[in-house]
Amino acid sequence: MDGGDHLIPGVLYRRDPVGPAVPLVVDSPHNGTAWPADFDHRVTEAELMTSVDAYVDELFGHAPRVGGTLIAALFPRAYIDPNRAEDDLDETLIDGAWPHPLNPSSKTAFGMGVVRRLILKGRPLYDGPLPAADILWRLEQYHRPYHAALAAALDRARTAHGAVFHINAHSMKPVGNAMNEDAGVARPDFVLSDREGATCETAYLDHAVELLRDLGYVVSVNDPYKGAEIVRRYGDPDTGRHSLQIEINRKLYLDGETFQKTDGFDTLKLNLDAFLAELAGWVQARG
Ligand SMILES: [Zn+2]
Repeated sequence: MDGGDHLIPGVLYRRDPVGPAVPLVVDSPHNGTAWPADFDHRVTEAELMTSVDAYVDELFGHAPRVGGTLIAALFPRAYIDPNRAEDDLDETLIDGAWPHPLNPSSKTAFGMGVVRRLILKGRPLYDGPLPAADILWRLEQYHRPYHAALAAALDRARTAHGAVFHINAHSMKPVGNAMNEDAGVARPDFVLSDREGATCETAYLDHAVELLRDLGYVVSVNDPYKGAEIVRRYGDPDTGRHSLQIEINRKLYLDGETFQKTDGFDTLKLNLDAFLAELAGWVQARG
């Protein structure tokens, strides 16, 4: 029976371990499709869906059954993106005085900062800048609660076990588009990223790569993704915090036109169930 599940409506849910806990935490920040009432955008729902990592929480839904914790966002990342720092914000999007320093990254330059300027290349999300108070609301009501829940789950596991192993889970389009740094390039089945060794110990990354390759997948490491804000923020191997970003190729499970599951979904889910079970055993021995 599930114990201690937690829901913040429209923001996130957390599923706790079923049975004995292991120090494994999975988070899925981009699967949300609960469009907030004040999300006053000017693009189509199909365009919005291209930014959603659809069903990624469901794909990793086995985590609690192997003793892990699962956290998933319910809001869309096109509204506010937990995988960007709060200050990775485009000055031209803000109408009014902004009370904090800004530190826009290359993601903001591509229109994909903490608040997106573009949904696709040449397709602005909004008619004009957003009131500063609206952006602050999104940070306070969605971005910060997501990080608070994730930080608490990671801290709890680390306190109980001395270390924590985190999977930050995403999905990627089969081919990079004009918004991406790898435009036009076909992607492998999985991309695992640790910011070139900065966010987890090598043995954890290597084991995850080996498990996925044993399941028959083509896996690349730190290419084309190096790992973004969430693994950067939480990964600190020197203090027993091991964060690994995993990108799943949507061609394995999702129809890119209808955004419905394909026949491949069930096979992928079963393989990820096996992956999580194996990884939980390794983490338990290691933690
Ligand atoms: Zn994502």
